[in-house]
Amino acid sequence: MKGICILGATGSIGVSTLDVVARHPHLYRVVALTANTNTDLLFSQCLEHHPDYAVVVDEKRVQAFREKIKASIVSDIKVLSGAKALEQVASLPAVDSVMAAIVGAAGLLPSLAAAKAGKTVLLANKEALVMSGDIFMQAVTAAGAQLLPIDSEHNAIFQCMPAAYQAGQHSPLVRRILLTASGGPFRQTPLEQLPDVTPAQAVAHPNWDMGKKISVDSATMMNKGLEMIEACLLFNMQPEQIQIVIHPQSVIHSMVDYVDGTVLAQMGNPDMRIPIAHALAAPERFDSGAEPLDIFKVGRMDFEAPDFQRFPCLRLAYEAIHAGGIMPTVLNAANEIAVEAFLQGQIRFTDIAKVIERSMAAFTVRPADTLEIVLDADQQARVAANQVLSQLDR
Ligand code: NAD
Ligand code: MG
Repeated sequence: MKGICILGATGSIGVSTLDVVARHPHLYRVVALTANTNTDLLFSQCLEHHPDYAVVVDEKRVQAFREKIKASIVSDIKVLSGAKALEQVASLPAVDSVMAAIVGAAGLLPSLAAAKAGKTVLLANKEALVMSGDIFMQAVTAAGAQLLPIDSEHNAIFQCMPAAYQAGQHSPLVRRILLTASGGPFRQTPLEQLPDVTPAQAVAHPNWDMGKKISVDSATMMNKGLEMIEACLLFNMQPEQIQIVIHPQSVIHSMVDYVDGTVLAQMGNPDMRIPIAHALAAPERFDSGAEPLDIFKVGRMDFEAPDFQRFPCLRLAYEAIHAGGIMPTVLNAANEIAVEAFLQGQIRFTDIAKVIERSMAAFTVRPADTLEIVLDADQQARVAANQVLSQLDR
């Protein structure tokens, strides 16, 4: 039986992971669950899954949570608090696999701690990888950790790679990766209406039910920009080898184009329990709870090239990876600030790309050799993005 720690248990990926784990109680035991602020959901998850540890990052909420646990039938659960506790539970000896499902840069240090402790890291938290790049990949290799992608596209690519493929290896058998994208809710919205779309419209994704931040990223297609960078790192490929393909039905989750002309695709319903179950069961397979794909209901599949004018965030992501060094870190941090400002109603949808572009312009490229440089660039980019926000004329 394997022990699992779920970082970000109360989020969309965390909830789906617990759903899959609960289907296989003889294979997985929940060792630790973590949440930022949603202690109500964390409490009910504790009752159902009885972990050894529960972490509440928000120190203001931990006391009430601790008392609730003490008075419950799961009073032996050890309750920890603060960001450092995330790193602690991700490295526990009883933990074999860590689901890295915190959203944004907050997930970097705990995900890295899991890698450094040699765990099997199930990586949903793409921002952590994008911002730390080679540092993350080197930590995985140095510790002999196993990295399994949870992002549906990267999980699909992983499944289509040669047998025994390990994340981070370069495969000379692969010519290109075809990274599919739904195009989000505004794929066909008239361009002049884009400045006025609301946060509610932006988070209403046509095919996937996800957290707010990634839903906005899907609407701007920054999500695909981050995923392009993620794919370069996970599969050791050049940006030119990643072709983004708009595929509105979200049935093919990505494809691998081999040197002999073979193209392998992974298909399935858009349900994150499929990549989660793949990573949890690897190298075997087990039930995920997802509906079988009804190919006749799908009927047809369409493919289009992405429109960089409609989605300037895609262009910015390519600029960041070509510049290299700290620029992907800056891109990611500025995007987190801009998306939050949009969700708070402070800026327009089309301002998101403006904030990122102007923030990136405030930096000169320097190598991102150490974690300290990365964390510093992340902080400085947040300061720069907040400054751009305050100067934006609306
Ligand atoms: P979500 O917003 O639903 O959940 C986020 C989780 O992170 C919650 O458990 C929350 O408590 C925790 N969290 C937030 N801020 C935190 C902080 N400062 N410190 C500690 N914990 C914090 O997000 P989600 O949709 O589940 O996405 C999680 C990650 O997975 C993201 O990186 C996203 O890009 C990636 N991902 C999600 C999906 C999806 O379908 N939802 C698909 C692919 C990749
Ligand atoms: Mg994805």
